[in-house]
Amino acid sequence: MFKNWEEVKNTQEGVERILTNSMRMNRVSHSYIFEGPKGTRKKWVAILFAKTLLCTSPKDNNPCNECHNCRRVDNLTHPNLFIIDPPGKVIKKEVISSLILELSKTSLENGPRIYLVIDADRFNQSSANTLLKTMEEPGQEVYQILITENYHSLLSTIISRAETLHFLPINRKIIQKHLIKQGLSESLANIISQYTSDLDTAEKLARNKETEEIYLLVTEIFQNLLLKDQSSIISLYHADKIFNNNESVDIFLNLLIYYQKDILSYKLNVEDFIMFIDQKETIAKLAKRISKIQAQEYLEEMLELAIKLKYNINLQLAFNRLLMILERGYKYATYSRSDTV
Ligand SMILES: [Zn+2]
Repeated sequence: MFKNWEEVKNTQEGVERILTNSMRMNRVSHSYIFEGPKGTRKKWVAILFAKTLLCTSPKDNNPCNECHNCRRVDNLTHPNLFIIDPPGKVIKKEVISSLILELSKTSLENGPRIYLVIDADRFNQSSANTLLKTMEEPGQEVYQILITENYHSLLSTIISRAETLHFLPINRKIIQKHLIKQGLSESLANIISQYTSDLDTAEKLARNKETEEIYLLVTEIFQNLLLKDQSSIISLYHADKIFNNNESVDIFLNLLIYYQKDILSYKLNVEDFIMFIDQKETIAKLAKRISKIQAQEYLEEMLELAIKLKYNINLQLAFNRLLMILERGYKYATYSRSDTV
């Protein structure tokens, strides 16, 4: 939840500038479309916008975050804030009709009324037509914000009646900094920001203990590749529960790929690209055991596995095979892709 516009500026500078300027100049539009990819916090910016409009003692166009109104917006319980997000693929006409009926009544509370429509590309022709009527005459203190990840699926008649604000994908560095601020290690923050450019998913992964477990498993596997008397495949047996969940498998394989890329980066003398920065020592030792070509070949093996994951394959077997290839290469320097047909 955003507390002020300065926080929005970090990730969506353009949007922040347009909205704060229009508030400063008293030229706030009654209909907005917030469009942009998943995880760009469109909904939270819309709620901050509503909070700013409803706050009883705003300072420099920022909400006070203390008054009764601010607190009710934070809890999503303010009676003048409507969030339209029905389940299902279509927003039906009845949903919009009942909203209009609600807005036509005298409100229980003074002040502006704001409604947000989540995934506004779900309108069908008849609900869109109903909505268009309110867009033509929204009422003096009624504000509407349509939120979408599929801007091009919106009807042009809707687009032409609203001011569109474009939310940009969030820069990787910003996600990384954000996660570090929340207490994550630099290495793990690095890796999560590589894995997703969706801030909400990144935060979810950072909070999930399993992400760290997978991270530790991957570092353990590569550390074991240095030791002749320790099998990295055994580590996998201890962690077989990751195979119960597609998302965990995907993270696990991606982390293996990032680690292997780090080894390749070391070999190519582009150490700045290393993501597992707390593993630099191990990465350096492993890099010395194999040739550049081998480093590339292992990476290719992993990328091929990523493609195979889309089919119904035996995961344990597939990963065992991959680790066996790595073991032969890193431990005994006997694997080369060109050996196999
Ligand atoms: Zn307030």
